[in-house]
Amino acid sequence: MGGQLYYSTKVPHKKEFGEVIRFLEGQIEKSNVDVRLSTEVTPALIEEIGPDAVIVATGARPAVPFTPGIEKPHVHTALDVLNQDVILTGRTAVLGAGLVGLETALFLIENKVSPLIVIEPTDNVGGNVGLRSGWIVRNEVTNCSDIEVRTRTTVEEVKDHSLVLQKEGKFEELEVENVVIATGMRNNNELMESLRASKLVKEIYSVGDCNFPRTVRSAMEEAAFASRAV
Ligand SMILES: Cc1cc2nc3c(=O)[nH]c(=O)nc-3n(C[C@H](O)[C@H](O)[C@H](O)COP(=O)(O)OP(=O)(O)OC[C@H]3O[C@@H](n4cnc5c(N)ncnc54)[C@H](O)[C@@H]3O)c2cc1C
Repeated sequence: MGGQLYYSTKVPHKKEFGEVIRFLEGQIEKSNVDVRLSTEVTPALIEEIGPDAVIVATGARPAVPFTPGIEKPHVHTALDVLNQDVILTGRTAVLGAGLVGLETALFLIENKVSPLIVIEPTDNVGGNVGLRSGWIVRNEVTNCSDIEVRTRTTVEEVKDHSLVLQKEGKFEELEVENVVIATGMRNNNELMESLRASKLVKEIYSVGDCNFPRTVRSAMEEAAFASRAV
């Protein structure tokens, strides 16, 4: 997940992920794979390298809703928060009560940011989170007195110091200092599309979230199949 990874002390499966990632990093160090960090792959770079095959694994990007005011400077994505690209203080609203929204809320609480208001348009808290992970995350959030989850509530507008909320036709203005977007991810398939259009490489595979956002497991499965097919 991006250049960095979020290991929660509150969500046990994140610690397990940490071990898997450290193992994979160790394996890469031992191998003769040429890893080039801080390098954006473009069709021009592919032309320069001239590979026989390309496996594209460019992942996904946050899906930002079209809410008026969403571009304001106090609005950040959950990834910005989890990667600690921004440090927040004060009353914060998290938009979306799926896995990422709930984990972001727990992460903020761990980092002494409170109170938190998680806003979700449906009445589904925890989204499609699997049984064990879902139970752990939901339980942590429910037991935290500094997190309030508001379901069946939509955000109609982001103002400088507040959000305009709507629940069942009733409007309310909620004062907040920060807004964090956790409203899902969108596949990042631009490189894949431009490589296909350029016809620079005969063999191209796309794996993981750049096809559509899912889980670590599906990304690793697709990567294993693609690497064997090359
Ligand atoms: C906050 C959060 C929590 C999650 N928690 C879980 C979880 O608990 N369990 C689970 O199974 N899944 C979880 N997921 C989903 C999981 O992280 C993804 O399914 C998985 O990381 C997808 O792997 P990937 O390799 O396809 O993409 P990513 O891990 O996103 O990696 C894509 C990489 O490609 C790089 N890149 C993009 N464009 C270019 C380019 N042009 N040139 C070079 N590099 C480029 C990016 O910088 C990034 O490093 C979570 C996702 C998020 C956002």
